[in-house]
Amino acid sequence: MKQHFGQDGVHFFDRVTGLNVLLDEITVPADCLSLAPKYVSIALTNLCNLKCSHCYAPKNNSSLEFELLKVWLKELDDNGTLGVGFGGGEPFLYKNIAELCEYVSSDTTLALSITTHGHFLTEELVSQLKGKVNFYRLSMDGIGETYEKIRGRSFQQFTDKVKIISRNSKFGINFVVNEKTINDLDNALSFAESVGAFEFLLLPQVKTPNEESISIEQLEKLKEWVNRKNCKIRLAISSSFAEGFPVCSFSESDQTQRRFLHIDASGTLKEASFNTEGVKIKSNIIESITVLNSRRELI
Ligand code: SF4
Repeated sequence: MKQHFGQDGVHFFDRVTGLNVLLDEITVPADCLSLAPKYVSIALTNLCNLKCSHCYAPKNNSSLEFELLKVWLKELDDNGTLGVGFGGGEPFLYKNIAELCEYVSSDTTLALSITTHGHFLTEELVSQLKGKVNFYRLSMDGIGETYEKIRGRSFQQFTDKVKIISRNSKFGINFVVNEKTINDLDNALSFAESVGAFEFLLLPQVKTPNEESISIEQLEKLKEWVNRKNCKIRLAISSSFAEGFPVCSFSESDQTQRRFLHIDASGTLKEASFNTEGVKIKSNIIESITVLNSRRELI
């Protein structure tokens, strides 16, 4: 099993089964701590063929360089990262996507998830990636007409793509919560349960050029919904909105160490995908993590 040595203890992880074991009774000496965070999300490209108004991905054509990306992935793997998540833009518009998944699977011990709108997935592609991608995150944000208005794509076509994934891999549904989608929550969760999703991930709206952040009233409505809902599948929420929701709490020491980082499509390392500030990665990613950490300590 892959190990991460953190301030919260030693974390063992199996990428095939998804089993996590945290030995929090172990105090890891400072000079043995893993230098990389547990999870890193990577925007492979900003390219996308859809135009969702809630999207915060920059509207330019930046994409990460394939050979450089492989070096960074190896470095993260060697320094304790447990898993990486590819996103975008739309990651299936990244020209080396299949080759990259193959690399993660055969040359690293990293778990791999991909966040996608799903419309490029075919039986052939999904079976080619079977066993290489450990988890798919399908972006849905509303069902039926709501979905179609936001995404400009048929909900039936989306459902067909979900069925392809469900026959081949573990997957979850990502759901951006805003005033357009909040009333679809009950039906969307029932849909996720009926198609065999493993997780329903709530993503409260963050501010974008076209949308305001989720309002306090809507956030309260969401909390009420979560508190009264009896889900058959795992319910999750983005960490930046977790406060006030009934989530598993982390130990105090764990909160002081970075658990997640993000690399955007221009090669900038950030605390979260929607942050505007970060550190441009030169050649060595661990060096960039150190710079980002030292900036945080100065705040
Ligand atoms: S599919 Fe994703 S990346 Fe593309 S526009 Fe919509 S939110 Fe943005």
